[in-house]
Amino acid sequence: MTEIMPTNHVLAAVDYQERCDDCCGFKNTFDPAHLQLDQRVNFTTVTETSRGFRYSSKKGVITEIEGDYVAIKSRAGRTIRSRNEVTPTSVPSPLTYAFIGKCNCTKPEKDVDESPKPTGEPS
Ligand SMILES: [Zn+2]
Repeated sequence: MTEIMPTNHVLAAVDYQERCDDCCGFKNTFDPAHLQLDQRVNFTTVTETSRGFRYSSKKGVITEIEGDYVAIKSRAGRTIRSRNEVTPTSVPSPLTYAFIGKCNCTKPEKDVDESPKPTGEPS
């Protein structure tokens, strides 16, 4: 990848591909507020088929941002999407994210092991 993406410098600080060792979920969630113009993004299209729904992931470039919506230019033409349905290409696609899920291991409150819980292991 020789592509230089200056608009992605904000993202560079966070590794959105990072996965949890325990549950394999993604550790960082992308904040849709960080979407920028000219950013290369993934979005998902859903088509209805005779057997249900088919999801496919597409790539495009953000050409406009207005409120909660972004306009994306892609091979298929121009599409308007809600911010929440769009992720930069450096971030796992919505499909991947939905499939693998998010890490829930880090719960700030409780879960601090003050009392050792029985693990089921015979002592
Ligand atoms: Zn986890």
